[in-house]
Amino acid sequence: MTDKEQMSLFDLTPSEIPLVELPHAEGDITLAKPSKSKKNKCIPIITAVPVAEQFVDLDALRDAACNCQKCPLAPTRTNVVLERGDRFAKILIIGEAPGEQEDLSGLPFVGKSGQLLDKILESVGFDTSKDVYICNTVKCRPPNNRVPTEVETTTCKPYLLEQIRLVDPKIILLTGATSLKSILGEKLGITKVRGQWYEWEGRLVMPIFHPSYLLRNQSREQGSPKWLTWQDMKAVKAKYLESIGADNEIDDDEVF
Ligand code: URA
Repeated sequence: MTDKEQMSLFDLTPSEIPLVELPHAEGDITLAKPSKSKKNKCIPIITAVPVAEQFVDLDALRDAACNCQKCPLAPTRTNVVLERGDRFAKILIIGEAPGEQEDLSGLPFVGKSGQLLDKILESVGFDTSKDVYICNTVKCRPPNNRVPTEVETTTCKPYLLEQIRLVDPKIILLTGATSLKSILGEKLGITKVRGQWYEWEGRLVMPIFHPSYLLRNQSREQGSPKWLTWQDMKAVKAKYLESIGADNEIDDDEVF
């Protein structure tokens, strides 16, 4: 498939997308050493990771989160929104917070942003039910979809850290500014750091644009947010394939 054809998959409905079968990771995989070339540089990040209450498994975490009353979002939620995808996935994706559809269904990224996220993943051949685990920085919907407050993200962070520990992904994608701030810290602006690999707590982390930002910026011109995201996703797929020891099949010949 050419670059152009592949990127046009961003605009198809999920059922129209020809799924490219990817080799799936089996057992443990090791991370490739970060490349020394400037383009592929992986920046080590050390943040203070608070010691969280440890759950025996994700079901125990779910039980605790579903009864959580620790922050001001608890009284207004319909459902606690924890996860979708594969609990054994090698790629974990972190969004901001549930919106209306997510609050009603109890599943993250099922509204318009989620549909676009699925298309983005499928455009580079990921199967959203078995290659990724999807969650949010904050598990309950903020009223009117406002950005979660510092108190809300901090209170919810132990659940997120436990999801990361229990899923044990090799690659983490941070969609948008809220998850970027929660995991890698304050000082990084999403526009500057998207597409960059970071090493955090022994995992490879890449910030990418939030799908809702892409919904507001529909251009696919070279250099546009959508085009940049597509470059990022190709890099993610290449890293995933490299990490499971599979050949990189990305067709990169055609200049977009
Ligand atoms: N935006 C998010 O960040 N997460 C969701 O679950 C839905 C929209």
